[in-house]
Amino acid sequence: MRLQGVLDDVLDEVGPLVGNGVPALSIPALRHVDVNRVGIAVATVDGRVHGAGAWSEPFSIQSVSKLFALALVFAHDGEALWKRVQRQPSSLRYDALIQLDLDCGIPRNPFVNAGALAVVDRLLTLRGDAGAAVVAFLRAESGNPDIGFDPTVAASEQGVSHRNAAAAHLMAAHGNLDQGIDDVLTHYIHQCAIAASCADLARAGLFLARAGRRNDGERLLTGLQTRRLNSILLTCGTYDAAGDVAYHVGLPAKSGIGGGVLAIVPGRGAVCAWSPGLDEAGNSIAAMAALHHFSEATGWSVF
Ligand code: GLN
Repeated sequence: MRLQGVLDDVLDEVGPLVGNGVPALSIPALRHVDVNRVGIAVATVDGRVHGAGAWSEPFSIQSVSKLFALALVFAHDGEALWKRVQRQPSSLRYDALIQLDLDCGIPRNPFVNAGALAVVDRLLTLRGDAGAAVVAFLRAESGNPDIGFDPTVAASEQGVSHRNAAAAHLMAAHGNLDQGIDDVLTHYIHQCAIAASCADLARAGLFLARAGRRNDGERLLTGLQTRRLNSILLTCGTYDAAGDVAYHVGLPAKSGIGGGVLAIVPGRGAVCAWSPGLDEAGNSIAAMAALHHFSEATGWSVF
């Protein structure tokens, strides 16, 4: 299959949707991002990368970072992690608080904000510097040493992160945080403020297509753990839109309010699409449509 031709066709198809939706309004520094940007990259397990549009332009990865933090913690903690966070889809927004209190401070899944805070809390305990651990992993897997935090985005979110602070306080009140609330929030916000491109993220996601093996051949996760992480991505990675994404795309995927969506094709590769215009669930309209067309054109699906 000529993947380059597929990617070029996909971008032609989604052209009319680019510019639809709104950028991430909850983070002041992202409010003025150009919604007309669009890119897509695919990395295959043999190490090749193809791209179209703005595929090598860095953007704010936001919640796509949650997948890498989770992999690092799951690799160490294994099943013990599930005492701190559930694996259930949430029908509420990613920053909802009601459910967290009803569930006694145990977040619904590791991809809603509260769940990601629990993961960052563990990563801080395990590695000291949680944000740096995620950056180091992304640099190593993408081969791009320039990946780092965007300080403007981090400072901007830090000033308005009231719902995340509330979630962290609720979890602390229920005894589900080991580290200090401010530290957990700061590392979470920095992890979200990492800037990387579609090509970087597609390369960095390959370990999930390769049964847990990193690009240097070292094993991060067992084959079984990789299957499990992919299953949580499929059911929870795009929040309350996960059912629709399973239906239209059929691949485990993680989205972020920077407009990026990283999808895993087990055994074949990873594909990342980006466009900043978001729908109400906080998922990129054009990037999701691009993944839909990509999976239809390639036949790549877990179903
Ligand atoms: N940093 C954002 C937040 O905490 C991430 C949300 C997202 O990308 N869905 O709200």
